[in-house]
Amino acid sequence: MGEIRDMMGTFELYQPMELDGALDLLRRHGSDAWVLGGGLDTFGWLKDRAKSTPVVVDLGGIAELRGIQVNEDGVRIGGLTSVWDVATHPDIATRFPVLARSAESVATPQIRTQGTIGGNVAQDTRCWYYRSGWPCYRAGGNTCYANAPGALNREHALFESSRCVAVTPSDVATALVALDAEMEIRTVGGTKSVRARDFFIGPAIDIRRMTALGSDEILTAITIPNTWASKPAYYEKVQDRKSWDFALANVASVLDVQGGVIQDARIVVGGVAARPLRMERVESAIRGRAINEATLEEAGRLAVQGARPLQYNAYKIALTRNLVKRAIREASA
Ligand SMILES: Cc1cc2nc3c(=O)[nH]c(=O)nc-3n(C[C@H](O)[C@H](O)[C@H](O)COP(=O)(O)OP(=O)(O)OC[C@H]3O[C@@H](n4cnc5c(N)ncnc54)[C@H](O)[C@@H]3O)c2cc1C
Ligand code: SF4
Repeated sequence: MGEIRDMMGTFELYQPMELDGALDLLRRHGSDAWVLGGGLDTFGWLKDRAKSTPVVVDLGGIAELRGIQVNEDGVRIGGLTSVWDVATHPDIATRFPVLARSAESVATPQIRTQGTIGGNVAQDTRCWYYRSGWPCYRAGGNTCYANAPGALNREHALFESSRCVAVTPSDVATALVALDAEMEIRTVGGTKSVRARDFFIGPAIDIRRMTALGSDEILTAITIPNTWASKPAYYEKVQDRKSWDFALANVASVLDVQGGVIQDARIVVGGVAARPLRMERVESAIRGRAINEATLEEAGRLAVQGARPLQYNAYKIALTRNLVKRAIREASA
C-alpha cells in the first residue's frame, strides 16, 4: 500500500551506451525490465514501492536518442530530448507553437530539464488511488476505487472509460495528436511508426497500459510533419493552481483557414479520457464553416456529446465545451 516512502527496492541497473545494447537487454529481460528516461515518473513509483522492477535499463547514455533535427519534411525529436529543449527550440516555437506551449506548460523548469519527451508521453496516469498502491483494475485487481460511491474523482474521465476512469496526464501528448505526429518505435526486430492518435490507448484496449509501447520497445523519436506548420494554433491548460500542477483539462488546436472559412482542423482535448481525445465530430462539423458564434456554439455542443460525468467531475463538461470553443476562436484570432 505504499507506506514505505523514499526507499527503493533493489534492482539490477544497466546503462547501455548504444541503442542496440538497450534493445538487447529489453529482449533478454522481457517484462522484468523497466526503461528509464529522466526518472521523474519512474522514481516516484519505485520510491513509493507502489511498483517494483528487478531490472532497470537506463537510456541516459545513448547519445543518438537526444536532439531535435529540422528537415524538409518537418521536425524530428529524439525520445530522450528534454521537455525543456522542446519548449525552447526556435523552429518548434515558430512553426509548431502548439507543441512549444504544451511543453512549456509541463510542471517546473527543473522537471522540464530533467524529464524527457519520451518519458512524458509514456508516463503513467496520476490517478491517486492507483499511485498510492491501491489494488484497482489498472493495478491488476478487480475494482475501481475512483468510481466507487463517495470516491474522490474530480480529476477523472468524462469519456471512454471502461472499468478504469483515469485520464492521460501528459500535456505534450495533446499537442502531438493535434499535429498528426508519428511515434518511431524500435525493437530488436526493427523500426515501426505509429500515429500519435493510435499510440495513446484507452482501458478498453489495455487497462494496464496507456500507450501502445510493448515492454521490449523503445520510443526512439517523434516526428512532426509539416502539414500544420505555421498554421493558426492554440493551446490552453486548465489547472487548479497557477504554479506546477497537472491539467484538469487541456486543449490543442490547429486550423487551416482560408478567406475566413475553416478548411480543416485538429482539435484535441486532454484530461477527459485515458488518451488525448480528438474531437472528430467537431472537426467535421466546422469544416467549410465561417468562424462565428453559430459555429462555436455547434462545436461546443458536439464536443461534450456522450460525456458521462462521475460524482465530482461534472464541471469538466462546461470546461470542455468552453475550451473547444475558445480553441477555435483564439486560434483564428
Ligand atoms: C512533481 C511533478 C509534476 C509534474 N507535472 C507535469 C505536468 O504538469 N504536465 C506533464 O505533462 N507532466 C508532468 N509531470 C510528469 C513529467 O513531465 C514526467 O514525469 C516526465 O516527463 C517523465 O519523463 P522522464 O523522462 O522523467 O520519464 P521516466 O520516469 O524515466 O519514464 C516514464 C515512463 O516512460 C517510460 N519511458 C521513458 N522513456 C521511454 C522511451 N524512450 N521509450 C519507451 N519508454 C520510455 C518509462 O519506462 C516509464 O514507464 C510531472 C512530474 C512530476 C514529478
Ligand atoms: S481510475 Fe483506473 S487507475 Fe484509478 S482506481 Fe480506478 S481503475 Fe485504478
